[in-house]
Amino acid sequence: MQACNILVINCGSSSIKFALVNPTEPDFTLSGLAERLGSADAALHWQYRGSKDSKPIGNADHRQALAELLPLVERAAQGKLLGIGHRVVHGGEYFTTASWIDSKALQEIKSLEPLAPLHIPANVQGIEAATKLFPDLPQVAVFDTAFHQSLPEHAFRYALPEVLYRQHGVRRYGFHGTSHHYVSAQAASFSGLAYGDSSWLVAHLGNGCSTCAVVNGQSRDTSMGLTPLEGLVMGTRSGDVDPNLHGHLARTMGWSLDEINHTLNQDSGLLGLSGLSNDMRTLEQAREQGHVGATLAIEVFCYRLAKSIASMSCALLRLDGLVFTGGIGENSALIRNKTVQHLSLFNMQLDREANALCIRGVAGPIHTPGHTRVLVIPTNEERQIALDTLALLKQHTA
Ligand code: AMP
Repeated sequence: MQACNILVINCGSSSIKFALVNPTEPDFTLSGLAERLGSADAALHWQYRGSKDSKPIGNADHRQALAELLPLVERAAQGKLLGIGHRVVHGGEYFTTASWIDSKALQEIKSLEPLAPLHIPANVQGIEAATKLFPDLPQVAVFDTAFHQSLPEHAFRYALPEVLYRQHGVRRYGFHGTSHHYVSAQAASFSGLAYGDSSWLVAHLGNGCSTCAVVNGQSRDTSMGLTPLEGLVMGTRSGDVDPNLHGHLARTMGWSLDEINHTLNQDSGLLGLSGLSNDMRTLEQAREQGHVGATLAIEVFCYRLAKSIASMSCALLRLDGLVFTGGIGENSALIRNKTVQHLSLFNMQLDREANALCIRGVAGPIHTPGHTRVLVIPTNEERQIALDTLALLKQHTA
């Protein structure tokens, strides 16, 4: 296979993020976002060979937005587009790797809607629109959950009646799999270790946050569960709470399930704790100025993160390093430092200067010599989706 452009598409309910990825090149030729789809303000923003542009696409739906995108993609790919890789949020237990999208696979994806009711319909909309617009191109689904299908049963089962697992799929699935996969592989190559013989703890810290234990290239445990609410403190998500909280809030506040879910998903996390913002940059600035809520939010975030990293170590026989990634992990020297301070039992200590230098896409080691390896590795989910898509296409053409 010579030219290997893959169009990567990530559909939300009112947006499409896209990138034209050639894994042999460091940058994306074309990338962008169609947003506010379905509204009068719908717009397409893109970057082509470094220069930015946008255009209004009033009231466009997913299909119309992709149709607007088509000439841009054709120009950028210069007739060398091999396929489309779709990010799909949930693959349940059925999808353990990336999958060629045929009618059976699409039916399976649709059947997973109860597990991700907000995201699966948007993903399906994107797949259906792209299939109509690019009928001759292979379409591949790459699942956020698939990397975690290697979790052993003792890590993925909840201590609940078995029938809930067997008949209703209630188990831990984990998310951010594409990112955990990408950065752990990069960490191994960065450190001169074979990916298939290395052990990593990964902290993906963006608006959503999760940790993962990766052993010999396979996920062995992760902090998110049945849904992306479990685990760490996130931008607006609470992470772990006492499961009795739901009943408690229903009884004492008279809240409905929808109100409780809304509070835990949209009003909690950094936003809830700080009373100020879900954005770590804002919180760091406010903390500098003595804001009590921002200070507390940062302390809770780092302590809970360190606790999760420590618990993930149960899945490892040895530790080759801790990796920080995601908007916060790649940019916040403060969060990395505070978190690692809670992990001194793991022989972790950061080099102040190296830690300060690893921001805005700079990768590198940030530990002091003689201590456990700690790396900052920028994630690149689009590139991993393109790599997974290409690998599948190669299997089909081999
Ligand atoms: P993501 O979802 O990966 O785009 O990450 C979004 C999060 O990264 C937000 O909380 C941002 O505030 C945070 N972030 C981005 N840049 C910085 C920075 N320079 N310092 C601290 N946090 C940052």
